[in-house]
Amino acid sequence: MFQRVLVANRGEIALRVIRACRDMNIGVVCVYSTADKGAPWLSLADQAVCIGTGPAADSYLKIPRIIAAAEKTGADAIHPGYGFLSENSSFAEQCRESRIEFIGPPHEAMRKLGNKNEAKIIARAAKVPLVPGSEGLITSEEEALKVARQYGYPVLIKAAAGGGGRGMRVARDDASLLTGYVSAKQEAEAAFKDGSVFIEKYLEQPRHIEVQLLGDQHGNVIHLYERDCSLQRRHQKLVEESPAPNLPPKVRDEICKSAVRLAKTAGYYSAGTCEFLLDKQNNFYFIEVNSRIQVEHPVTELVTGVDLVREQIRIAAGEKLKYRQSDIVQKGSAIEVRINAEDPEANFQPSPGRITQWYSPGGPGVRVDTHARTGYVVPPNYDSLVAKLLVHQPTREESIRVMRRALNEFVVEGIKTTIPIHKRIFNTAAFVDGVVDTTFIERVFYSPGNESPK
Ligand code: ADP
Repeated sequence: MFQRVLVANRGEIALRVIRACRDMNIGVVCVYSTADKGAPWLSLADQAVCIGTGPAADSYLKIPRIIAAAEKTGADAIHPGYGFLSENSSFAEQCRESRIEFIGPPHEAMRKLGNKNEAKIIARAAKVPLVPGSEGLITSEEEALKVARQYGYPVLIKAAAGGGGRGMRVARDDASLLTGYVSAKQEAEAAFKDGSVFIEKYLEQPRHIEVQLLGDQHGNVIHLYERDCSLQRRHQKLVEESPAPNLPPKVRDEICKSAVRLAKTAGYYSAGTCEFLLDKQNNFYFIEVNSRIQVEHPVTELVTGVDLVREQIRIAAGEKLKYRQSDIVQKGSAIEVRINAEDPEANFQPSPGRITQWYSPGGPGVRVDTHARTGYVVPPNYDSLVAKLLVHQPTREESIRVMRRALNEFVVEGIKTTIPIHKRIFNTAAFVDGVVDTTFIERVFYSPGNESPK
């Protein structure tokens, strides 16, 4: 097992990794930017090394400085968390070349799966259903028009290198296809230095279902069932839960088995997630693999009792999976809400600043993963997630009631958060009935061009 793990991340996920290391009796080093100087999680590490200034490009994305910090402090592994360098296969490769283990998948599998177009080729080989669309990349406007007309509008233009909702455009006719083709390419080129795009049929009001996977370096791959992440705003998840409500057991079984097949075909190990869309007839289609731990991983930890971060570390150290597929059972219902420092009344614009009052909920069935506290200043530089509030109960009905109780207890002053919108969601009939889709928030809570609640 490792002696010391370096955490190449910040905020709640840095704290999550610190906790796993403590539980495993492994030393832990954090890197930080000047914007995070004095941040609460840093005092829980054995050592903290400053690697640059606030902008991520000068700190959390600076590969040589992170590797140098690991070498200087004698860390023998690096946990990348999510975001930042977590899906950068070149970072994984450079870590391993420096004889520092990267706590994640093999870099070859990461590179292939990191490209949505290549991931689709692997999915096809694994006989996993795909959203109908172009066979490969689209290289001209004429080809884009041909493919769109072949599958019929609406279609989605997607950047192969895309992520975080960037480089995606919906087209409902020839005119919006041509403008979308150009702007998706430009956005992807600027964000990922890769402007290649492909086209998919745009599914109307799908659900987002994803499968948690764990694989070891000895060829064993298991799934830990699904999460339903349909509650999104602008393709960004707001609420995640497991099991997915109203999902026929046969469909659940097929989705989970497809995900395992795909991971095996890709030669994947570590924790990972296979994402699917589900249409109204319960047909499922692969969309992408996230080759890292995800924000919403605790949902799965609650229903399965498996500590995913500990497993990631054990797998990276070469150990065999501790679980067989038959050991994994989905027990009860778990739901997570993302508490972001954003103002839901002002188009969700970021709301950084000092937290003047912080009281987080507790009691039976509640888990809060957060790095925030009273007096903490949310810096403007990074992702706006300040807490993940989770509940776990025997039934979904009880989880919803406990979540309402917990949301009512939560007090955050000094910054705006997404707590009010979650209160509204948990009192909305469609959510309570488990019949929402990825367009629900925009369709029901906000009308186009008017971002104030109805
Ligand atoms: P990113 O990597 O940028 O997050 P994804 O491919 O994971 O992009 O898609 C994010 C979200 O976009 C999905 O959860 C879904 O809401 C929507 N989406 C993606 N592909 C389609 C599609 N073909 N039809 C309808 N919605 C889609």
